[in-house]
Amino acid sequence: MPGAGPARLLAELRAVPAPASSQEAVSFAEHRRRYPAPPGPRRNGDAPQIDLIDLIGRSGLSGRGGAAFPTGRKLDAVVHGRGPAVVIVNGAEGEPASGKDRLLLRRLPHLVIDGALLAAAAVGAERVVICIDRTSTAALASVRRAVAERAAAAAGAEPAVAIDVAATPPRYVAGESSALVQWLNNGPAKPTAAPPAPRQRGVAGRPTLVQNVETLAHLAQIARFGSEWFRQTGTPGEPGTTLLTVSGAVARPAVIETAIGTPIEHILASAGGLLGEPPALLIGGFFGTWVPTAAARHAPFSRAGLAPLGAQPGSGVVIALPEGACGLAETARIMAWFAAESAGQCGPCRYGLADLAAGAASLARPHDGPAAPSGQVARLRRWADQIDGRGACHHPDGAVNLLRSAMRVFADDLAHHEQGWPCRGASAPPALHVPAVHSAWR
Ligand code: SF4
Repeated sequence: MPGAGPARLLAELRAVPAPASSQEAVSFAEHRRRYPAPPGPRRNGDAPQIDLIDLIGRSGLSGRGGAAFPTGRKLDAVVHGRGPAVVIVNGAEGEPASGKDRLLLRRLPHLVIDGALLAAAAVGAERVVICIDRTSTAALASVRRAVAERAAAAAGAEPAVAIDVAATPPRYVAGESSALVQWLNNGPAKPTAAPPAPRQRGVAGRPTLVQNVETLAHLAQIARFGSEWFRQTGTPGEPGTTLLTVSGAVARPAVIETAIGTPIEHILASAGGLLGEPPALLIGGFFGTWVPTAAARHAPFSRAGLAPLGAQPGSGVVIALPEGACGLAETARIMAWFAAESAGQCGPCRYGLADLAAGAASLARPHDGPAAPSGQVARLRRWADQIDGRGACHHPDGAVNLLRSAMRVFADDLAHHEQGWPCRGASAPPALHVPAVHSAWR
């Protein structure tokens, strides 16, 4: 359920009469009352109604999928590619603790589709492919219904831009842009390191824009309300609002919308406040960083605000570690997930992550488990150094970053565990949900 905050993206959910089911999407007719139809493709008809790339550049919008790349520059890179482009809506949302893109796809599919069509108009694309993890069945159904609604509203007229919906393999790295492109080109959904980049030669050899769901929803709003409006909230360097998925030891786990730069304690308050005294927050998701709660409370949720804590917003996740849970044991479970999610293409990722996961598990052992071999902490640090930056994608880097932050933030626990005195929390049931790993890459 969406929580309280400055409603921009989520405003439509509050403005329309409550649907019969809270899972229902805003209809095409309701959506069109607030948003005019996007222009057609640039190279196939009239000039666009607005110079969208310039407008987006002036808004300061950056990607909300994790990398925070400036959206205007990304559009600009694709429009200079050779031939008609393709737009991929990246709805894979592989970060296990994130639910914001699925919320948008489920409840506001037309806002996302408008954003995709506007991006298509800007880069001269004649095809949009909306990629959604195939286990996200509600999001897939909602988007398929939304595409059908539009086709029905067009009364048989040939659409200027073809919209396909694709159900992608439920693997973490399948959402990496080169993996999506390779999968759409009938290969496995695994990242490819080799140039050219998707923006130059992507789907069917065409310049391809891969853009996150939330980013496209913001893009649709900027086209409607303008770049100055977008800049009225957030910080001068990081304008706008952002969707955050807040979970763990909070009273009301929720997807909330907040201005970038909002202090973390306000974000936690929007999710009903902390339950008990969580010792640490995991900021940015599984790909993120543990930070002591006391240090994080007053930090602004922005790239600049989190940098002094060694953290980043990532895909907009805040998880409060429940009081009494063992941060090392939770991290060890996530490390095992990272190892299982390796695409197995690069040695440091395939073998190194398995070693790191096994090493973390031996340190996080429960009360009555076998002791970790002596020197295990130093060995883990050395292995982490050897893996960092050595994969074709950033998958191993995320695992290393998480492990290092756990060893820093839970340093006292680490010393106890290494000396053979793990805390009681290490024997407790898991506090964080770690998903099962699927085997399919196609
Ligand atoms: S680093 Fe890992 S996930 Fe990334 S391409 Fe290499 S094997 Fe695949």
